[in-house]
Amino acid sequence: MEAFLIFLLVIGGIILAATLFVAWVIATIVRGIARMVSPRRHEAMTSSAPGVQVCNNVQCQCHNPGFARFCRRCGKSLPTLLRVVPSRVAML
Ligand SMILES: [Zn+2]
Repeated sequence: MEAFLIFLLVIGGIILAATLFVAWVIATIVRGIARMVSPRRHEAMTSSAPGVQVCNNVQCQCHNPGFARFCRRCGKSLPTLLRVVPSRVAML
C-alpha cells in the first residue's frame, strides 16, 4: 500500500512538471509568434530602450548608446547623467 502511494506521488510530480513545462513552451512559442507578427512594436521597444538615446541635434538625430556622453556623429553633448546614474544604482 505504501509503495502504491509513493508511486502515485511520483507520477503526480512527473505530471505536474510536464504540465508546467508544456505551459512554458506554449508561452515561449506564443511570445515568439507575437514578436514576429508585430515587428513594429518590437522596433518601438528597442528605439525607446533606456540604453539608446537620440541626438538632440535636429540635423543629426543619430542613435547613440545610453552610456555615451557625446554624439558619435556630430559630437554634441548628450544628457546622459540622469539616465546613467539610476541604472548603475539598480545594478548594485
Ligand atoms: Zn548628433
